[in-house]
Amino acid sequence: MYQKKLPGDSPVSIIGAGIAGAWHALLFAQAGHAVTVHERSDASMGQSTSHWAGGMLAPWCEAEASEPVIPRLGTRSLDLWRQHFPRTPFRGSLVVAHARDRADFERFAKLTTNYRRVDAPGLGELEPALEGRFREGLFYPDEGHVEPRRVLPELHAAIAKAGGTIAFNSAAEADDLEGIVIDCRGIAARDAQSELRGVKGEMIVIETAEVDLSRPVRLIHPRFPLYVIPRGDGRFMLGATSIESEATFVSVRSALELLGAAYAVHPAFGEARIVELGSGLRPAFPDNLPRISIEQDHIAVNGLYRHGFLLAPALAELTLGYIARGVIDNEVMQCA
Ligand SMILES: Cc1cc2nc3c(=O)[nH]c(=O)nc-3n(C[C@H](O)[C@H](O)[C@H](O)COP(=O)(O)OP(=O)(O)OC[C@H]3O[C@@H](n4cnc5c(N)ncnc54)[C@H](O)[C@@H]3O)c2cc1C
Repeated sequence: MYQKKLPGDSPVSIIGAGIAGAWHALLFAQAGHAVTVHERSDASMGQSTSHWAGGMLAPWCEAEASEPVIPRLGTRSLDLWRQHFPRTPFRGSLVVAHARDRADFERFAKLTTNYRRVDAPGLGELEPALEGRFREGLFYPDEGHVEPRRVLPELHAAIAKAGGTIAFNSAAEADDLEGIVIDCRGIAARDAQSELRGVKGEMIVIETAEVDLSRPVRLIHPRFPLYVIPRGDGRFMLGATSIESEATFVSVRSALELLGAAYAVHPAFGEARIVELGSGLRPAFPDNLPRISIEQDHIAVNGLYRHGFLLAPALAELTLGYIARGVIDNEVMQCA
């Protein structure tokens, strides 16, 4: 459906410099709009969910538990990450399981695509640290990952380079802003979108020189996807729980499960130093799908749930397509 509604060169105010707001700001600034981003945090982005994320760009693995719109937008996002940040690592993802979780492993394989099975020697070739640890794995060669705490500042710098302005320590109200307003406040937007809920995700960062991995490794687990993501300099992020709670502490049970998963991937993780424990609230609508809500010159982009890094580039491109050419994507856009 095509519907020209808004001028393509208006100034744009974006609220929130998390992954959704940052990608919107970048694409709008590059398209020639005068962009101002208001962010209540300082540049460390400590008040954003994005600060806590794993940063996996894994549309094929995520298809296991997602509607088709997630891989559709996710694969488009991979192109945009490659185009705008050519140094983004695309070394693939590995999925492994212990013998007792074999049925879940096969189920994961059935529900996903774009992988190849690797046997034990093949696993050892991809990740020498895993040699002899698992009988087989699934290798998704086209998936990537970013480190949120590195890529957010890179995005913010790219916005400035494209002529946009980011005001940190600047809490904003949509009604006080001129021009097109894009609300990317994540879970804080619940005052305007009452259906939003927070889904707690807990993570732990550990450090060891004993294990070397070059790509995210997912361990099949009956309750939630557990993964180990290499962060460089001997650091690894262990994530992530998925709990219907808006409490922000890390529970003993979650810490046990995350640390246990790392130990199961490689016993040398047992000697690692715990660097950080933390949690973020994933902003989610009841269907766990992203939404671009359009009400005249006020657009809200939210519900990125556990796919913010995977989806933000494609969502920003859709919002820009709407402003520039009136293009509506019926799967994610709602017009009032
Ligand atoms: C443990 C964990 C692991 C995850 N792993 C992955 C992963 O591997 N891959 C993936 O794709 N996704 C992952 N996610 C999901 C991802 O983190 C979220 O989908 C994403 O961060 C949501 O981004 P957002 O920009 O919508 O919200 P946020 O990142 O929360 O950004 C919203 C911003 O708005 C600001 N703000 C709020 N109110 C105001 C105001 N009034 N004025 C100004 N600023 C305001 C906030 O300070 C915040 O910075 C993970 C999440 C968690 C918790």
